Amino acid sequence: MSEEPDATENAEPAENISGGDGEASSLAEFAAGEPATRAEAVVDRLGGLYWQKTYGGRDAFECLVRTILSQNTSDVASQPAHDALMDRYGSADGEEIDLAVALADADRDELADVIRPAGLYNQKADVLTSVAARVLDEYGSAAEFDAFVREADPEEVRPALLDMGGVGPKTADCVLLFSGGRSGVFPVDTHVHRIYRRLGIAPADADHEAVRAVLEREVPAEKCGFGHTASIQFGREYCSARRPACLDGLDECPVSDLCDRVGVNVETGAVVDPADAE
Ligand code: SF4
Repeated sequence: MSEEPDATENAEPAENISGGDGEASSLAEFAAGEPATRAEAVVDRLGGLYWQKTYGGRDAFECLVRTILSQNTSDVASQPAHDALMDRYGSADGEEIDLAVALADADRDELADVIRPAGLYNQKADVLTSVAARVLDEYGSAAEFDAFVREADPEEVRPALLDMGGVGPKTADCVLLFSGGRSGVFPVDTHVHRIYRRLGIAPADADHEAVRAVLEREVPAEKCGFGHTASIQFGREYCSARRPACLDGLDECPVSDLCDRVGVNVETGAVVDPADAE
């Protein structure tokens, strides 16, 4: 393992996690008690290792933009692209302007250049301009879209987001969680997808949606948000794709007693995707 996590109570890791800085978020209080499922026990332990927060309060359209920029890349790469985009399109002459209007009107090549650090910049520029145009068309402004995400039934918001083109389930769920503050939403990214199948909590061959369904059923609603963010950090620091910490000894992983290690052979050091495990 290359770095030790910060074990300070409620500390946030130095590196940003997808949408997890949450300026408008607040520390959550949770009743102590025995976890009802293994999934909840894992989330409790990871929440203790990192932090426990509730989320919400971000502008939905900006959150959507941020999550699109972070697709297929790290936050380290996408953050400068987000900052550059907000500098260029978030205001004019010191006045804040509607980001959806600015992006819908943006010159595509210039926008691609601004977001270049995020990678796949031509493709992401196309998605951003079409999503911005769609938001204006259907909601009238970024502010109206924010209100829809915050106030409408999540069962209505999720399909509306998924219908936008270039917006997948993880992006939709991150917007619901970080801007809508919806509890009970457990976005599944590549780390979450890997970890909970290795643990044996989700079936080895489960796709992202199936893992999400298991977690949203077995983790209490108020713990899903930090379960998502803490799991991502855990996947980076401990249960990485190629070299999970348990290969260096079970004591190296803080949840090894809760894990089936599907696809991980600590005797031989062999690691395969859980779906390919014997
Ligand atoms: S025991 Fe190994 S496979 Fe299981 S969660 Fe820990 S690092 Fe991942």
